Amino acid sequence: MAQVPADLRDARFLLDEDTRPPQPVPPVILTTPTAMRRWRAANSGTLGFVPTMGYLHEGHMELVRRSIEENLHTVVSIFVNPTQFGPHEDFSRYPRDEVRDLAQLSAAGVDAVYLPGATDMYPEGYQTYVEVEQVTQALEGAARPGHFRGVTTVVLKLFNAVGPDRAYFGRKDAQQLRVIQRMVRDLDVGVEVVPCEIVREADGLAMSSRNVYLTPEQRVAAPILERSLEDARAMWEAGERDADALRDAVASVLDGELLADVEYVSLADNVTLDELRGEVNRPALLSLVAKFGKTRLLDNVELV
Ligand code: AMP
Repeated sequence: MAQVPADLRDARFLLDEDTRPPQPVPPVILTTPTAMRRWRAANSGTLGFVPTMGYLHEGHMELVRRSIEENLHTVVSIFVNPTQFGPHEDFSRYPRDEVRDLAQLSAAGVDAVYLPGATDMYPEGYQTYVEVEQVTQALEGAARPGHFRGVTTVVLKLFNAVGPDRAYFGRKDAQQLRVIQRMVRDLDVGVEVVPCEIVREADGLAMSSRNVYLTPEQRVAAPILERSLEDARAMWEAGERDADALRDAVASVLDGELLADVEYVSLADNVTLDELRGEVNRPALLSLVAKFGKTRLLDNVELV
């Protein structure tokens, strides 16, 4: 039998059990605002926070990795917030898989997971809400009355319990990001909001917990959303500045897909989200919502 060269024997030695890196310590799990606040009080140093509704995918995990890179500690919350769902929306059937979520967060090396119960967040007699007035009016605010009031309220409550220095939000929920930025500025919240890029599947579909609802046929069709936005972005880059032409370009691509039921296509001011008319002479957000069956999917690109 051939001799194992010396350098390979050394490599084997390096993989010996004693020299393997230690396994990540599982995160601490905190289930009440009081427990969360106590943990924060006992753990000084920069804290990054990633609020989620669970059923984690690579989009969430990108936020988590960024927080771990940029902060001494990272806390992730998982809370399917009842106050941001309308009466006929998917609150009760929103996908949940706590065991898988915790395994992913543990492997990523987060310090703590905040998993409050609905009655801890909204005890009997609860009656306080945060309302951001203007940037909540159009788009998702118009389609889902009360949605952003639920979002801002829960995010401020989570911030109060977690005590983060930075909080990570995805650009996929573009209006939500702008609403949170406005709230943080208006209420002197003292948390740095860090926007993170949209993470997509290989075929371009923006990752979303709701993608599991799609039938195989709908899943094959869904990347049309990104393609329609990319077509318009190419026009923008080639110099097209007419708001209707850009919106129409998206709508006409989507028209070709019978499974996509378009709810809106919007070209709006990138900060205020006021809908743009005529010539576009400032950074804009091109966004859309389309339903595939009962599943509502969002996507957007910034034209800057
Ligand atoms: P959710 O669990 O849907 O409430 O999302 C939690 C956070 O993850 C929000 O800040 C989302 O914008 C962000 N997020 C969700 N999907 C993606 C994605 N595909 N890319 C980047 N961020 C995402």
